[in-house]
Amino acid sequence: MSFSAQILDGRLVADNLLSKLSEDVKFLKTQNLQLKLSIILVGNNPASISYISQKRKACEKIGIIDDQINLPATTSENELLQKINELNNDRSVHGILVQLPLPKHINEAKIIEAIDHKKDVDGFHPYNVGKMFLNKDFENLSPCTPKGIIKILEFYNIDLVGKEVTIVGRSNIVGKPLSAMLINRSATVTVCHSKTKNLKFHTARADILIAAIGKAKFITTSMVKKEAIVIDVGVNRVNDTNSEKSYKLVGDTDFENLLTKISAITPVPGGCGPMTVACLMENTVKAAYQIKNLS
Ligand code: NDP
Repeated sequence: MSFSAQILDGRLVADNLLSKLSEDVKFLKTQNLQLKLSIILVGNNPASISYISQKRKACEKIGIIDDQINLPATTSENELLQKINELNNDRSVHGILVQLPLPKHINEAKIIEAIDHKKDVDGFHPYNVGKMFLNKDFENLSPCTPKGIIKILEFYNIDLVGKEVTIVGRSNIVGKPLSAMLINRSATVTVCHSKTKNLKFHTARADILIAAIGKAKFITTSMVKKEAIVIDVGVNRVNDTNSEKSYKLVGDTDFENLLTKISAITPVPGGCGPMTVACLMENTVKAAYQIKNLS
């Protein structure tokens, strides 16, 4: 009989969280509070449009008003800053999300910093990022993908204390904040990137391996430890002539071949993606409670 790894079902964990959040949204309505999330899209990047559509569906599912603001790709930095200022001052708005990436002529850091940190539901504002680095008790509006990964691990009772965790990828939205959240939970964390020497040495000794690289099937069987737990964050489009869309989504790991060696893995799609969206909803609910001093 051949062994096959447990699938860590992100959709299941996300659905549980969304049901709980829809109760919060109902409660807030009884307090005369209708939640609203403003999502700004600059330009028409197809991947951004698809991500926004998933976020809006989740809003609809739990009763949050999703206010999509489409701005042309030619929007200037000042015009975008003005829009953000307007939303910061709009008492009917509880969360503001600027879909990244932005056109090259706009400075992303400046835009993120302009969002009121109390409405920063993506958790990218330096104030929220800084708090998260202090310790677990300070984590509040933390970045959604790392938060979602922690929740998947918690749901499946995967203990982090003293575990060797290797993250491949050091971006500000995944690798770096996730490293802080894992250290806050007493894991021993190694963060790798494109300049890491002997990557395999670090990946093959990990009890928990997290792949956030953006390269299809990059992590192969020889790079993982036997019975490791693997979290695959990557979302990559590869050609697929059998699919209606002519492409399919795959992660950063060689999923099928890993299954007989490791103990558990998140699938792509259906792993980290749904949890990222669910955590965005959680941050929006949290922001509303805090803005209204109800928490
Ligand atoms: P970035 O491109 O910002 O970061 C990629 C990281 O991978 C960088 O740190 C880079 O190193 C590292 N890297 C690239 N090549 C190598 C290599 N050969 N060896 C070791 N490290 C390497 O990507 P993101 O963090 O934004 O996203 C990563 C993946 O996760 C993407 O596929 C993205 O689509 C997906 N994603 C999925 C989400 C979800 O909800 N499921 C949410 C966010 C992202 P360096 O820093 O040196 O360049």
